[in-house]
Amino acid sequence: MKYIPYGRQSIDERDIKEVVSVLRSDFVTQGPKVKEFEDTLASFCGAKYVVALSSGTAALHLACLAAGIENGDEVITSPLTFAASANCVLYCQGVPKFTDIDPLTLNIDPDLLENAITKKTKAIIPVDFAGLPCDYQRISEIASKKNLTVIQDAAHSLGAEYKIGKQWFKVGNGQHSDMTIFSFHPVKLITTGEGGAVATNNKKLYERLLALRAHGIYKDKKTAAKGLWYYEMRDLGFNYRLTDVQSALGISQLKKAELFVKERRELAQTYSQYLSAVENIVLPPEPSGKKSAWHIYPVRIKKSVNPLGKRKAVFDSLRKEGIGVQVHYIPVYFHPFYQKMGYKMGLCPRAEDYYKRAFSLPLYPGLAPSEVKSIVRKLIAILKYA
Ligand SMILES: *Cc1c(COP(=O)(O)O)cnc(C)c1O
Repeated sequence: MKYIPYGRQSIDERDIKEVVSVLRSDFVTQGPKVKEFEDTLASFCGAKYVVALSSGTAALHLACLAAGIENGDEVITSPLTFAASANCVLYCQGVPKFTDIDPLTLNIDPDLLENAITKKTKAIIPVDFAGLPCDYQRISEIASKKNLTVIQDAAHSLGAEYKIGKQWFKVGNGQHSDMTIFSFHPVKLITTGEGGAVATNNKKLYERLLALRAHGIYKDKKTAAKGLWYYEMRDLGFNYRLTDVQSALGISQLKKAELFVKERRELAQTYSQYLSAVENIVLPPEPSGKKSAWHIYPVRIKKSVNPLGKRKAVFDSLRKEGIGVQVHYIPVYFHPFYQKMGYKMGLCPRAEDYYKRAFSLPLYPGLAPSEVKSIVRKLIAILKYA
């Protein structure tokens, strides 16, 4: 029986050809492909600047540093995310503050967000869960009123769109957040193996991110005056560079990004059609004015109909059938590391309730509609007996 994972990359012969040609060239890293990838990604999402990095986690880390997060600064994020969205705050000695989700969108609740802001709050990291953009109109209004930096965790939502007024905006356009981070891990919309990026419209942030990517080293007019060999390390940066080999893959993948989004949207629609009549399942949301990139297709068992604990039975049975369901996510502060820091269970009841009942069904370009049908058929049978 073929195991169907919850997500996977889609790499074709053209991608391979592009990578091989870089391997035969003069540069395998720090050559022309990195900038070409950055420019292509900037024009894809409508941002002024993009800095390509070695991972989405590196992108979150540098975005926090560029935002000036330091000792004791509070940064608000969603509990329903991968740990990296909060870990990046800890890397900078900041304090992650988890604000509960809106039970309808599964994204951070803007009403709760406003109340969570204190004198110490410096930034917000909204996460576009499952590929659905957050309420950026509200979030950007709140942020500008309180002078906060918005770092959009768009690891799930490259290619997604949201509407404000009559206008549609592509995620990463930079008009409603200061920085947007992307990940190119193989389960994400496009892949570079490992990889990530920050998009921004702010030149100062862009220049800071560029320097932090390479040890905090600057080479500019001031250093040039001292000699051609001369450079200065002015900040404590890192080696978070993406290679030319990876960038070549990224450029080639980006050419198919729109197609990937289209295919994901169609597969999600197929799931929704088949599952809409299934009594005990709540489907993932896509409110009007949003076009999700459908990174995952997370369903949950209805609260009213089923006792808790049923999720495990359903999950295990699906895995036994070779269906690679996954749970997105264990609330970040449930992890022992966060528990040791003193975060209390019960902090975000909606995210906790969601977590107990949720699981994600396989979704990726190349998954056949017939496979979706068979997954749904198995799920329905399992739900009857679980
Ligand atoms: C994947 C992911 C990241 C981290 O990306 P990496 O490239 O794996 O470091 C961050 N946030 C979210 C929500 C993610 O899904």
